[in-house]
Amino acid sequence: RTVYVNGEFLPETEAKVSIFDRAFLMADGVYEVTSVLDGKLIDFDGHAVRLERSLNELDIRSPMTKEQLLEIHRELVEMNGIEDGLVYLQITRGAPGDRDFVFPDPETTEPTVVLFTQNKPGLADSPAAKKGMKVISIEDQRWGRRDIKTVQLLYPSMGKMMAKKAGADDAWMVMDGYVTEGTSNNAYYIKGNTIVTRALSNDILHGITRAAVLRFAAEAQMKVEERNFTIEEAQQADEAFITSASSFVMPVVEIDGVPLGDGRPGPKAARLREIYLEESRKVAV
Ligand code: PMP
Repeated sequence: RTVYVNGEFLPETEAKVSIFDRAFLMADGVYEVTSVLDGKLIDFDGHAVRLERSLNELDIRSPMTKEQLLEIHRELVEMNGIEDGLVYLQITRGAPGDRDFVFPDPETTEPTVVLFTQNKPGLADSPAAKKGMKVISIEDQRWGRRDIKTVQLLYPSMGKMMAKKAGADDAWMVMDGYVTEGTSNNAYYIKGNTIVTRALSNDILHGITRAAVLRFAAEAQMKVEERNFTIEEAQQADEAFITSASSFVMPVVEIDGVPLGDGRPGPKAARLREIYLEESRKVAV
């Protein structure tokens, strides 16, 4: 696999980053994951805009323009022959000569830029979309700026392990009695014709797939309520689902052992998935 590191395309075995890189020492970096379908990038613009925002919030200088970033994404997809898969991008505050809590001078420390691809043949027709996911609820113990897409993913990773141990596929996190989001996705339930999901704030990541799916809700003749909701409420729902760049729209069929409806993926989440894939393929770059 060819990867990109700081201006160079290299075989993955030759790519190197300093041990003083602040992402390695302090999780001082941000990332984006963009999916690729039929060799084209899905929602690239949204990811590029959010990346810019994450960098701004952390005072990391943006090392390249959106056009340059797109070019690197495309080259890597091409070089690695990716038809269906993902592009992972990470930008860190860089590698000063030593470990220090204080941010290094941006004049002397360049951000580190790393990109690699992941090949996922058949990404859009994953069997999980037909089977549905089981989720458990766990307490949300992450930091307070979940709107910034940092590489600080230890708690979400622990959450996935808790789910796995409980025989489930993922975890929904709960803060002060209300669901925030999934460990690596946004969370929703459907009751009647209404989609319910938590409103945007610093409590959740502003999902790019979330924005698109809520925009397409009208096309599926559905209403959207952005508000807090509890696990108990979601367990009474007709359907539930999650969204993310790598899973698109994925049905949830069980929450904390309670099956939703007949315990099988419902028609509305399936319809939203169909519309999302159809519409975003049309404008893929
Ligand atoms: N929430 C969290 C915590 C995430 O990690 C992700 C995906 N990285 C999402 C939501 C979904 O965001 P997107 O649709 O932009 O992939």
